[in-house]
Amino acid sequence: MEASTILTTIAAAGLTVTADGDRLMVRPKDRITPEVRDLIRARKAELLALLAEPPATADTDDDWDERAAIAEHDAGLSRGTAETVADACHPAWHGVEPTNWREWFNAEVATRIPAMGMAAAERRAWGIAMDLWHRWHGVKPTPHRCAGCGGRLDGARVFVLPDGAPVHDGESFLRCMGAYGRRWRAQAAAALAALGIMEPEGVTDDH
Ligand SMILES: [Zn+2]
Repeated sequence: MEASTILTTIAAAGLTVTADGDRLMVRPKDRITPEVRDLIRARKAELLALLAEPPATADTDDDWDERAAIAEHDAGLSRGTAETVADACHPAWHGVEPTNWREWFNAEVATRIPAMGMAAAERRAWGIAMDLWHRWHGVKPTPHRCAGCGGRLDGARVFVLPDGAPVHDGESFLRCMGAYGRRWRAQAAAALAALGIMEPEGVTDDH
């Protein structure tokens, strides 16, 4: 079993694991079963290494909060979608595509569990997975065409999204950006499902 899978299993049992120097703190103590204790003892070094690693996409919480608030209040998205958008707009990703997406995803979730709990960690990792899949494999924008409505952009006001896709600016901006976002997110979600990564509870869609 991968160390990240162990961490996820422990969290699913309602326990929180944190690293304190070279010790692992597991709480609440009265919920630790003999099986979990043996598992943690046997894999202690790996678990400590995993918890000590900062998430690969470290991003300051203040910046993230601000992006989520803008997406929710200014763009009128639901909280779940706003959080996904905040994740998707994280600063440029430097790295190579994981060879095993499912393992990579479990590790991204596991490193975040101590700070934010299982549900939020899954949603955060999901948003990042969606964005990365989209950047690597999503349909590339067509020049001179709005990525939302497909209309020609000649002479129109244009807004270029962080992924390089152009959409109509002005009155149509929210509608065109929304249409494009729903399309690429649906495509990325289907691709991630095929890779064994399912959308977590709480990531709601806007209709
Ligand atoms: Zn458009």
